[in-house]
Amino acid sequence: MIKLFSPEDISEFTKTDSVFKLIMEGVSVSRTSVRRYREYFRKYYQEILAKTLMFAYDYDLTCFDRVAIDGTILKACNAPFNYITKKDLRRLLRILKNKRYGVSEVVLLKKPAQNFYYNKNMTVEQKIMFLEEAKIQMKIYGKKKIPLYDPEARWMMNKKKKKQISYNIQTCVDTTSQLFLSVYASQNATDHYELPPTLQKAIENSPQKPREVLADAGYNTEITFSFLKEENMEGYIYNATQSRIDKGKRRTNPFSLDNVEIHYTENYIECFMGYPLFNEYTYRVHDEKKTAKGLPDETKRIYVNTEACKDCPLRKECLSEKQHHKTYTIYGSPEKREMITKMKEKTAKEIYKQRAPTVESPFGTLKQFYHIDTIFYRGREKIENMMNLYAIAYNLKKIYEKLKTTLTEDKRYITFIQKTRNKYTT
Ligand code: SF4
Repeated sequence: MIKLFSPEDISEFTKTDSVFKLIMEGVSVSRTSVRRYREYFRKYYQEILAKTLMFAYDYDLTCFDRVAIDGTILKACNAPFNYITKKDLRRLLRILKNKRYGVSEVVLLKKPAQNFYYNKNMTVEQKIMFLEEAKIQMKIYGKKKIPLYDPEARWMMNKKKKKQISYNIQTCVDTTSQLFLSVYASQNATDHYELPPTLQKAIENSPQKPREVLADAGYNTEITFSFLKEENMEGYIYNATQSRIDKGKRRTNPFSLDNVEIHYTENYIECFMGYPLFNEYTYRVHDEKKTAKGLPDETKRIYVNTEACKDCPLRKECLSEKQHHKTYTIYGSPEKREMITKMKEKTAKEIYKQRAPTVESPFGTLKQFYHIDTIFYRGREKIENMMNLYAIAYNLKKIYEKLKTTLTEDKRYITFIQKTRNKYTT
């Protein structure tokens, strides 16, 4: 499988392509059957993905001990200008629900909303249903505008720093075999809160619960740490400063937090002049929005040493005009601080090095050979299922590559397919 084929292509291949013929045991299918089949089996993709992991586990290819998590932004099937504002949505619903409002009201709508009103492929009931759903999405996520054709997608910044309507696709990959353990389509633009749902799916899919998790600084949040603690799992996660230093992008200002020594165990900071700055104040930062989302409070620590700064010869360079003394602020729970201390150790750094090749190589393959940039489904769940299907194809290919040396030359595909089918069809 080199990409996700359309039902028309699959229908054609079952008549002409030898591999497709073999899989279908000579039965050719119509495109309608393929569509129906996809619709019916979509909900089983996650289970099938779990079966591929079981297969790899049974053949001793890996024990899923250590996994890595990362995300990528995928453009949704919705042009950037095709969105509807809150005002237009209300007006459109009023027009559709109440026949008293006519064309005179429609002209007041923005162009995309007008096009939606005149869309002949949808009935009035379907349009109302769609808009009601979009209204709920706006309310839940506090949005003032929402994509018109895929209301579950969100504006996100891609790697080229361009804002586009997208999904944040999270994956969990095994470091030994590079097999996908789970896929999770998120509506959040950042990775901050995405480790728990992605890892939870990986735990459900994996034949053995992973013990260690590698993730980049985007996941260095309290919710990540409380989840790892709850699941009794070991994390290897850099914070933003460590990540910048790792990439050689350390801040040049010698007085910035990147360049001072933080002694987490003894709880003080050693400034550029070598003076200790002590933890004078500690606050719990309560954020209603975060609490509503079930996120824990953050801890804020303030480090100062007014006496040292008073006579310091570098006052002019270190402090701004308004400052009398230096203040360093560090956020984080004891777990977060423990992680920073751990990630300074050589062994932890060595383990963390496995993260990038583990997660980036499978994604690169999906992008380059499976053309995942072309999304032709709409809705979070459908996109996630589509990605699960890619992950299944990727895993099967990867397992086949690893096992092919043990299969006889002329019967590689046949033996592999038969083995898979006999063992895991229930
Ligand atoms: S001003 Fe204070 S914090 Fe800055 S270098 Fe001098 S002693 Fe250290």
